[in-house]
Amino acid sequence: MNKRKSHKTPSLKNAKRVIVKIGSALLVDADSGMLYRAWMESLAADIAVMRGRGQDVIIVSSGAIAVGRRHLNFSSGALRLDEKQAAAATGMARLAHAYEEALGNHGLTVAQILLTLDDSENRRRYINARNTLTTLLRLGAVPLINENDTVATDEIRFGENDRLAGRVAAMIGADVLVLLSDVDGLYTADPNKDATARHIPLVDAITPEIKAMAGSSQTEYGTGGMITKLAAARAALPAGCSVVVADGNGENPLKAIEAGGR
Ligand code: GLU
Repeated sequence: MNKRKSHKTPSLKNAKRVIVKIGSALLVDADSGMLYRAWMESLAADIAVMRGRGQDVIIVSSGAIAVGRRHLNFSSGALRLDEKQAAAATGMARLAHAYEEALGNHGLTVAQILLTLDDSENRRRYINARNTLTTLLRLGAVPLINENDTVATDEIRFGENDRLAGRVAAMIGADVLVLLSDVDGLYTADPNKDATARHIPLVDAITPEIKAMAGSSQTEYGTGGMITKLAAARAALPAGCSVVVADGNGENPLKAIEAGGR
């Protein structure tokens, strides 16, 4: 991974292949279970600009459970694993449809892929997944990846989409992985409790400082905190993929990252 140091970290604008991971809290209104359509449209516009430049874009999106639970009339609060799986199955169709509409407005084709972490560990499945992704990118489609929650077990509880995005980044040789959530970077400590906490928006090497970081932030719909973002970085960095952790709350979140010089 140190050999990357002699290379310039590619900016989002210059990256050949980019993975964008989107947390549930950015996509779904917690009270109504409705998708934030205007935000999705702004994301789709950013992706269309990137595709127009010839960049490959892969989306890893959470949100299936958050959307599906309202359609199954679950009340707010914790769900059992089988209930989460039922909610995910219900919500995934709606989520994919919303992406299809938003990206379709720009003439882009969405292709849904549901994966588990096992798929990146079993050689035959790893190669199959990689071949399918590579073919889709060659054909100009935008792969839309989520965990295959129906067959996942512990994974749903730990916000594994961050980890999954890191594995996929390594699998297909992405240059940049963007983790969009409601935090604007990694912090060396909890900034609410520790005034010396340092902000790290771009991770292009696992330094001892980063290794020492811990702590996790949780919202009702996003199960990924710092720990899973670090896990994503650990998977992506050795494959030469740098990781941007950005607050995606505003519209046009990718354009905003570019405007910030990354
Ligand atoms: N796969 C879950 C969903 O779509 C999200 C898991 C995660 O937040 O990482 O709802």
